[in-house]
Amino acid sequence: MFCPFCSAQETKVIDSRLVAEGHQVRRRRECIRCHERFTTFETAELVMPRVVKRDGSREPFNEDKLRAGLQRALEKRPVDTEKVEECINRIKSALRATGEREVTSELVGNLIMDGLKELDKVAYVRFASVYRSFEDIREFGEEIARLGD
Ligand SMILES: [Zn+2]
Repeated sequence: MFCPFCSAQETKVIDSRLVAEGHQVRRRRECIRCHERFTTFETAELVMPRVVKRDGSREPFNEDKLRAGLQRALEKRPVDTEKVEECINRIKSALRATGEREVTSELVGNLIMDGLKELDKVAYVRFASVYRSFEDIREFGEEIARLGD
């Protein structure tokens, strides 16, 4: 962090505290060369990557859309809302963990399928049959057979 007064590289932290309910760190720094003091704020980057669709268009990641998709697949299935929320959080963490600014809708779809596979096999098959539009009945049968493993 360069000193904003003299652009020296060497600054020292003289005070450091959590602000914004722990979501930010406020640091008081002092320049070692000119002794001016200044404040910096650090925030963890929690921005979700944008989603690139198959036609090449981009859209912001939409949590409500993800939730709606999961709920559609899970309709009338005995799965706790809490488990669904956990699944959504895992998908979001996985997307952030890519460290990419953009991810493909295919990756998002695969994460949803992995999540549903854990939650409920029937919901998984429902989602996969729509999402993947299985090429033929045989492929679909093989996928269902694998669920028994
Ligand atoms: Zn300075």
